[in-house]
Amino acid sequence: MKFDTILIGGGLAGLTCGIQLVGQGKKCLIVSSGQSALHFSSGSFDLLNQVNGEAISNPIEAIDRLSILNPSHPYAKIGKANVVSYARQAKALLERTGVETVGEENKNHFRITPLGILKPTWLSVPDYAVSPDDKALPWKKVSIFNIAGFLDFHPTFICEQFEKMGTQSDILTIDTPELDILRRNPSELRATNISQLFENETAFRNLAGIMRKGRNHSEAIIIPACLGLNGNSISKLSAMIDCPVYMIPTFPPSLAGIRSQRRMMKYFQKSGGYYMLGDVVNNIQIAPDGSFQVTTGNHGDVRFCSSNLVLATGSFFSRGIVALRNKIVEPVMGLDTYSSDDRNEWYAENFFDDQKYQYYGVKTNDTFQVMKEGKVIENFYAAGAILSGFNPLKEGCGSGVSLLTALHIAGQILKK
Ligand SMILES: Cc1cc2nc3c(=O)[nH]c(=O)nc-3n(C[C@H](O)[C@H](O)[C@H](O)COP(=O)(O)OP(=O)(O)OC[C@H]3O[C@@H](n4cnc5c(N)ncnc54)[C@H](O)[C@@H]3O)c2cc1C
Repeated sequence: MKFDTILIGGGLAGLTCGIQLVGQGKKCLIVSSGQSALHFSSGSFDLLNQVNGEAISNPIEAIDRLSILNPSHPYAKIGKANVVSYARQAKALLERTGVETVGEENKNHFRITPLGILKPTWLSVPDYAVSPDDKALPWKKVSIFNIAGFLDFHPTFICEQFEKMGTQSDILTIDTPELDILRRNPSELRATNISQLFENETAFRNLAGIMRKGRNHSEAIIIPACLGLNGNSISKLSAMIDCPVYMIPTFPPSLAGIRSQRRMMKYFQKSGGYYMLGDVVNNIQIAPDGSFQVTTGNHGDVRFCSSNLVLATGSFFSRGIVALRNKIVEPVMGLDTYSSDDRNEWYAENFFDDQKYQYYGVKTNDTFQVMKEGKVIENFYAAGAILSGFNPLKEGCGSGVSLLTALHIAGQILKK
């Protein structure tokens, strides 16, 4: 089977690049072995939160300084003007797929972590509680509801943190007969299953009733992120109770992340893209004419051919790069990596220090084409978390790098 572009890895980077390409009439295949980082993420998208250990509030203003300090950073390769343009395109692309967000590229806002702490971010889904301020919340009094028996959400921690910021909270419990079905097996009481249960209109009305009754003049109701995976939404609930309801991310799995992944995948397929989930690319051959032949675990000898290849297999977490005893390798094709062969250099002793291994990934030139044995492979690009030269945790730029490098690469391919 022949394609214009094959994308290996269908997380945020692979999907973004694929959506942009199929939108311009290109025939694309995404092969993705499993869940992506989105399934475990906060559900918010970070662009840039820190440069050289200093918190920044305007990511765009900080790009010049970041580029001087680290010319290998993906944003330095993209260039400031493109960062602005792709950041806006990324927000619009997400919205087209049904992933609506709030936030701007030139001003971070603050999301609330599962422990009630404020963290800067770029884009958040509108049903999540956020604050424009890093030290205060927009409410004086809230009601925090948890689902009876749900262990991935901890209202007491959240309440303590809220109090430090001057917001009082009541902690209340939601218990409906429908929840008994999930409680029969405690491992079933997860955010995604709870969301499915409240797709049922009677259960949803019961939920609204409990909140209306328990609210006690609060300005807002806070619940764990366990609603709205498919149908019944937070805005509908807010209207039924006549009070704004917001979600706070739970410990993984991430409802908002899974929802974004599913919506983007559906949009890609609806636009004509092919998505093979649960299959692993295990071999890539380059034909004499420079085109690519890809084989996968599920398709034996069948060769998938393309003129362009995009590797978006993620970082260590998704096995896009792998740490062996004394070296870091890219497992599909043995591409060149930026890393140290001295294991002692990988880690700093203090967990919270700038960890070197976070910067490791595949080496690319300025247009994100990969290298093998020091030579650039034409038309073979890498996007997202597999790239080297940035620290998504410390700098708070994980989603931004995935979205922006994917759009940059799509632009290179479309220019041809
Ligand atoms: C646990 C976790 C939480 C995070 N939370 C946030 C957050 O809250 N905000 C934020 O901005 N950033 C966050 N990040 C940063 C994250 O790296 C990026 O946001 C982004 O989602 C990475 O997308 P990606 O597509 O580059 O890689 P991934 O999401 O890792 O996707 C790679 C995909 O490639 C597939 N794959 C791997 N090898 C193969 C193969 N050989 N063949 C076929 N498929 C393959 C994997 O199964 C996976 O689906 C988080 C990262 C992690 C690991």
